[in-house]
Amino acid sequence: MAIPPELAGATLTIDLAALVENWRMIAGQVSPAECGATIKADGYGCGAVEVARALWSAGCTTFFVALPMEGKQVRDALPEAVIYVLDGLFQGQSGFYIAHDLRPCLVSPCQLSEWADTTEGRHKAAIHVDTGINRLGFDRAQAEAVAGDANLIARAGLCLLMSHLASGDDEASCSNAIQRDAFAGLCELFPELPASLSNSPGTFLGSGFRHDLARPGVALYGGNPLANKPNPMQTVVSLMAAILQVRDVPIGEGVGYGATWQANRPSRIAIIGVGYADGLLRAMSWPAMHDGPAVVCIAGQMVPIVGRVSMDMITIDVTDIDPDKLTGSPKAELLGPNIQIDDWARWSGTLCYEILTSLGRRYAKVYSS
Ligand SMILES: *Cc1c(COP(=O)(O)O)cnc(C)c1O
Repeated sequence: MAIPPELAGATLTIDLAALVENWRMIAGQVSPAECGATIKADGYGCGAVEVARALWSAGCTTFFVALPMEGKQVRDALPEAVIYVLDGLFQGQSGFYIAHDLRPCLVSPCQLSEWADTTEGRHKAAIHVDTGINRLGFDRAQAEAVAGDANLIARAGLCLLMSHLASGDDEASCSNAIQRDAFAGLCELFPELPASLSNSPGTFLGSGFRHDLARPGVALYGGNPLANKPNPMQTVVSLMAAILQVRDVPIGEGVGYGATWQANRPSRIAIIGVGYADGLLRAMSWPAMHDGPAVVCIAGQMVPIVGRVSMDMITIDVTDIDPDKLTGSPKAELLGPNIQIDDWARWSGTLCYEILTSLGRRYAKVYSS
């Protein structure tokens, strides 16, 4: 059941227009290659079906999910989309992929023969080759064996050669060129197959990474695809919360569990109904792990989260905000134009990927377009 904003601790807004803009920007920079979209983990927490529909309307026709059930969910919404399952073919489950027209990204000779034997060339699949991340995929020798067997390629319905970058977000990493060259060698082995190497960061690494199809994920949702550079993407996710109470805290008193923050002046503390159960990680507590405290934005001012993040609440030091601005129930921006998912990631010692996929389930959720 949808949660009404007036009864939720906070409202999460997903800006589908910004999402589409982000996809168009990446599509432009990989052109003439095709630009797909990675929408695993419920569209990085933004809603796989809503995201897929918005991108489909903008002209995106190829989608990547991790799991077969995620693929079915997208298939039910988009009967004509091309859907790849990145985690491969689950043993004995070819029937499920066929029934829902899902293309497995085959990761081993064993998966390839299972798919070939059940489909006999009637259904398509990708072959995923490992070029250095040492996660899923055929190794070079296994790929060579397939490349020499035209009959097997046809029986498995191979229609895409893919690999995945380990350090695409670090332009300076030498592993990018190593993987690019290894993948180029594989493309020569399979000259008839369209190829795909780039995730979001890869689309920024230049023409050697573009091939025929890009698979951006995080950048579509507003995450910064480039480490240590300004974020070129538009903000997609915003989170606005009401203040539940404002209280005065005398000098010397502590706030929250363990009293990890103490008032060193007469203070005013605002309480907001969002906590670690909502994906605002406890690592964002005071004392701050990283460069200064986590902040929220109230009445145009950045104010720090003080004390521990609890399950359902955070406490904010609003002493420096003009009290007049706190009357009339102002909303606090927890995420939005002033506070990015990458800021939350920095404050909690993680990545924006984890922030997005941890977004809570008890927000009021609104899609704008
Ligand atoms: C998750 C994933 C992507 C998308 O990566 P982003 O960094 O979010 O753009 C692309 N390809 C594979 C194989 C993935 O697992």
